[in-house]
Amino acid sequence: MENIAHKRGIVYLVGAGPGDYKLLTIKGQECIARSDVIIYDRLVSRRILGYAPVGAELIFAGKSPGNHNLEQDKINALLVQKASENKVVTRLKGGDPFVFGRGGEEAEVLHTHGIPFEIVPGVTSAIATPAYAGIPVTHRDYASSVAIITGNEDPTRENGRIAWEHVARENGTLVFLMGIRNLPQIVNNLLQNGKEPTTPAAVIRWGTRPEQKTVAGTLADIVDRVAQARIKHPALIVVGEVVKLRQKLRWFEDLPLFGKRIVVTRAKDQAGSMMDKIEALGGEPWEFAAIGVEEPEDFGPMDRSIANIGTYDWIIFTSVNGVEYFFRRMRYFNRDTRALHRTKLGAIGPRTREELESHGLLVDFVPDKYVAEAVAEGLRVENMEGVRVLLPRADIARQVLPETLREQGAHVDVVHAYRTVKGRGDVTALREELQDRAVHAVTFTSSSTARNFAELLPSGELHELMRGVTVASIGPVTSRTVRELGLTVDVEAEEYTVDGLIRALVAYFTAQKP
Ligand code: SAH
Repeated sequence: MENIAHKRGIVYLVGAGPGDYKLLTIKGQECIARSDVIIYDRLVSRRILGYAPVGAELIFAGKSPGNHNLEQDKINALLVQKASENKVVTRLKGGDPFVFGRGGEEAEVLHTHGIPFEIVPGVTSAIATPAYAGIPVTHRDYASSVAIITGNEDPTRENGRIAWEHVARENGTLVFLMGIRNLPQIVNNLLQNGKEPTTPAAVIRWGTRPEQKTVAGTLADIVDRVAQARIKHPALIVVGEVVKLRQKLRWFEDLPLFGKRIVVTRAKDQAGSMMDKIEALGGEPWEFAAIGVEEPEDFGPMDRSIANIGTYDWIIFTSVNGVEYFFRRMRYFNRDTRALHRTKLGAIGPRTREELESHGLLVDFVPDKYVAEAVAEGLRVENMEGVRVLLPRADIARQVLPETLREQGAHVDVVHAYRTVKGRGDVTALREELQDRAVHAVTFTSSSTARNFAELLPSGELHELMRGVTVASIGPVTSRTVRELGLTVDVEAEEYTVDGLIRALVAYFTAQKP
């Protein structure tokens, strides 16, 4: 992408934040979105790479303990090389680039080579991870300072750079990064230099992520507790009185869906908002597109209806997709909403209504319950004799609605606005997650998501893979399909919407808590 100010390339040293991808800064996101090359570290959330433009070169420079994919020298050389090719480069680092991220060194190299660079600070794990565990790193009553210390320095080394006698005497909070393997020595050094064994301490792994795990205790017992809980990298250590506040201030781990990995089976373009909602409640959404939505194979019937659109008394939309594909086709024929001026509109539920409203259309009828039966029932009050009704919908939709309307005397045209196809969800990855018992719930938002989900998994494995997994369904029609597949429905929404489904899941998991 063109860079207005610089004729030459530029490097943005960007902090990606501690894990939760939403803790990336707006400026960081903008840099990524305009980059030709992105060089990222291991602790950078994959979701953040999704902001890269299509076609950007993504280079993994993953440094993890003991596994240096790219040596620091090579990373430096790469930054210089790519920027010298006039490219816009984002160097993405976990947390903040200048907090133990070697960002300083990389910037020095760029300076030496006369390459323009900018620093975009990030939310450092040193502060954000304790915050997500309910530990404020400073507090008027308990800590007037915070020190961020490397836990990587060989603690047995004499003449090390860390002055343990000072560190141990420090009354403020101590945060050790990169120190989980050295935890016993770090604790030992603090105790030997005079810190009280009763000093509160906590270790937090995968902070700000759905997998976050916190172990709290005192310097006397934290080593044993961490060993018992088998906490490994990446984790940090917090030492100080502030750790005690966690009892009152823990919040993230108490969110209703915290720690729950929940599979979303909707079509890709509709999964997003559902995933956001799960995430906002502390859950970890896992996208597995069981269905996809495509144009119908034969547009003939819908095109004929559009040509005569003014003759319909009602158009009833039974899904957001129906609305979207109908208006796309209208547009194709250069027609807009004015063609519907004498037509009444029905929507099966609130989301479909919103979609119509986004086209500037008010909806005349939404049933009390969001199923086809309720639409026909609700329209019974109208005299449907001879009334012309158009139903633009999916190729596989059920027959109840048109049949009941016809019984009421209506003339009904059912046209295929779109068709549902099997989704392109990553079956191998999902199967592994299910085998590892790493999935807590699978959600079905329609009969076709359930049916395709079952068909996409290797035949004969469905029941074994789904053993112990909570099955959540959006309503009775979907539940029936799920049962026909031989699965048990554990959760059914009371209101047949995505929000209703998530509410039901929350109630279910809350009831299970000890
Ligand atoms: N620049 C980064 C730190 C890089 S050093 C920042 O500002 O956060 C890497 C160390 O950071 C890890 O060894 C671990 O101690 C800590 N760390 C990073 N992300 C973490 C997370 N989500 N949870 C716990 N510790 C984390």
